[in-house]
Amino acid sequence: MAIERTLSIIKPDAVAKNVIGQILTRFENAGLKIVNARLQQLTRAEAEGFYAVHKERPFFNDLVEFMISGPVFIQVLEGENAIAKNRELMGATDPKKAAPGTIRADFAESIDANAVHGSDAPETAAVEIAYFFGK
Ligand code: UDP
Repeated sequence: MAIERTLSIIKPDAVAKNVIGQILTRFENAGLKIVNARLQQLTRAEAEGFYAVHKERPFFNDLVEFMISGPVFIQVLEGENAIAKNRELMGATDPKKAAPGTIRADFAESIDANAVHGSDAPETAAVEIAYFFGK
């Protein structure tokens, strides 16, 4: 299995709930290493740029408002199969459909305030890591 890197974001709802540590512990317990991280208040332009692929979607403006509503904790996770492993730990986009024991099942309230972001493929992981941490 390949060693990969993926971008993970703990979104403003989870930061406000004071569960950064609990979420990072899940990554560590699953064998993912945090190789870069920072707490950051995104600007509107940064949030819009990050979610540019969704700009035609009806939820885009609300998503941007949510992502700038408070600080986020952004990290690069590294490990075997890190992209899929992180997506598995996160659970489905809609927490009501997320498997029990996943981060979204345990910490998210709704499909828009859903606690975490994780890259969904090697190409997006590379672009998203570069977006926040450079090459
Ligand atoms: N989102 C939303 N409403 C929707 C679908 C998505 O607010 O009906 C938000 C949600 O925060 C989600 C993000 O847009 O995490 C990106 O959507 P995507 O389908 O890529 O889900 P993810 O990869 O985050 O599970």
